[in-house]
Amino acid sequence: MVACAALDVAREPEILLRILWITAFAWMAFALPAAAKEVALDVGHSIATQGALSARGVPEFEYNLALAGEARAALERAGLGVRVIGAAGDTQDLASRPRLAKGADLFISIHHDSIKERLLQVWQPNGEPQRHNDSVSGFSLFVSRENPRFASSLACASAIGRALRAAGFVPSRYHADPVLGESREFADEPNGVHFFDRLAVLRHAAMPALLFEAGVIVNRVEELRMREPGVKRAIADALVQGVRECLN
Ligand SMILES: [Zn+2]
Repeated sequence: MVACAALDVAREPEILLRILWITAFAWMAFALPAAAKEVALDVGHSIATQGALSARGVPEFEYNLALAGEARAALERAGLGVRVIGAAGDTQDLASRPRLAKGADLFISIHHDSIKERLLQVWQPNGEPQRHNDSVSGFSLFVSRENPRFASSLACASAIGRALRAAGFVPSRYHADPVLGESREFADEPNGVHFFDRLAVLRHAAMPALLFEAGVIVNRVEELRMREPGVKRAIADALVQGVRECLN
């Protein structure tokens, strides 16, 4: 009897502890949020192929890198996972970019826009000839119908365009223009989303994917706006808002 009583006394706290552990685990399973969604941010172009040249002669890659950094910070603040692709400037193979994003929930390629070469005019901002065109401005978004997750890609692009508009940014219409642009068909006109089916980074992505032209850097006024920290932050915040809306 004594032995048995001693045994019971000794086991009671142990059983109690087990119950506590089981309760705690059950609570954690329900209380913990689902794994954070991950966004792959692709920095458009590279050091060797720098994309457009701005009205003041700054390579597009530099603008893309700066905005990707801002977007990364904003997404992380919102509790989302972020994977930045091409930040070192050595990624030249377009198909490798979506491959590097494997496992992410969304692929966003970040760019800044220009216009056809023949529509650029020469000016001398610092004694050096540079080229500009102030007649085009605004953001553009592109999705590919060859992406296996086209519907989700469009939903995300539309949500981002909507959030940008709510923040006061204006979608560009010039890609749809037959003279200034390339008669590119709208996928969602009010929110500035176009079809661009053959875009390599979008069609090779296994996850929803979109390409974002944040602004036109051959426009002399818009280029200066794209440099402003407050503007970059506002774009990044709109990006986060759109991403959260479409990934939920
Ligand atoms: Zn670009």
